[in-house]
Amino acid sequence: MSFIAKCAHTNNEFDLDQDMAEEVDIVVVGSCMTDLVSQAPRLPKAGETIHGRKFFIGFGGKGANQCVQAARLGAKTAMVCKVGKDFFGTNYIQNFKDNAICTDFVTQTAEAMTGAASIIVNDAGENAIVIVAGANMLLGEEELEQARSTLAKAKVLLCQLEISSHISLQALRMARQSNVKTIFNPAPAIPDLHTDFYKESDVFCCNESEAELLTEARVASVDDAGRAGQELLKRGCAAVIITMGSEGCVVLQASNPNPKHIPTAKVTSVDTTGAGDSFMGALAFYMAHYPSMPLEEMSRRANLVAAVSVQSIGTQTSYPFKKDLGAELF
Ligand code: ADP
Repeated sequence: MSFIAKCAHTNNEFDLDQDMAEEVDIVVVGSCMTDLVSQAPRLPKAGETIHGRKFFIGFGGKGANQCVQAARLGAKTAMVCKVGKDFFGTNYIQNFKDNAICTDFVTQTAEAMTGAASIIVNDAGENAIVIVAGANMLLGEEELEQARSTLAKAKVLLCQLEISSHISLQALRMARQSNVKTIFNPAPAIPDLHTDFYKESDVFCCNESEAELLTEARVASVDDAGRAGQELLKRGCAAVIITMGSEGCVVLQASNPNPKHIPTAKVTSVDTTGAGDSFMGALAFYMAHYPSMPLEEMSRRANLVAAVSVQSIGTQTSYPFKKDLGAELF
């Protein structure tokens, strides 16, 4: 039976199918957000109602985005997350299924709505955004516990900070106990991040502004990123990657703390929303599928995947599938 067929008949109304658990490469413990986007000539003032030009709903949330990118490259993935018992939650579960992501550990709650980002974009490309994490913050230890045996057999765990931070930390610890490689993306960054997040990360991967907040030092150049990376390495992670938009990324490893700049492809970017999540999902894919590949090479390939995502509009809609990419990336 195919992976997705097994998942489809083992959704959370049924007992877990233990056979399926062996087949998951990557577990993502993280967030789902529904983006409600209105395009309008300008942003409304307080108390004002204006006519917009276009409305659309998009799938977002860092955890879900990263999981979707990894799945589209061919990884067998499972998402551990919580959505509301509402239209958006049901719709999101269908989106996971459409991307061949196992939904056995996606639960629906009546206690909160699915996480949502209400976004208004004006003609100048500026935006105003309100994010309500909703059900994401109700993902708890019980749900994590249900995923324990699947996680223990996976190759890579990926998590971020759009859910309760203690759940992310617990997921990292659980993975480490089972020798599952961990990738931690401290986004959105919080000051005074618990030191265990560093110690439990095989790869600690953030962007420039997150590196800046965590190290309290300016990160505006490749050299700055190298210095920030060395500071983050000292806090106990096995490797650090700092992504730098069109500059690609900087990679450092405890075994080789000299920063290595990995440039990305020169492309015409039209929308960089979610590029970091595309990079993270791709990195997880390479770690799961090519465990002996040097981290620098994985990062080079993840750069190239993310560079494709910036060339079209949207978040998940811009993420490439394996078939869209050259054979040299696999
Ligand atoms: P975030 O989305 O978290 O801000 P970045 O902007 O650093 O993350 O982008 C993540 C990755 O996406 C980069 O490391 C790079 O590989 C790719 N990328 C982003 N912007 C561009 C761009 N303009 N051209 C090519 N690649 C890009």
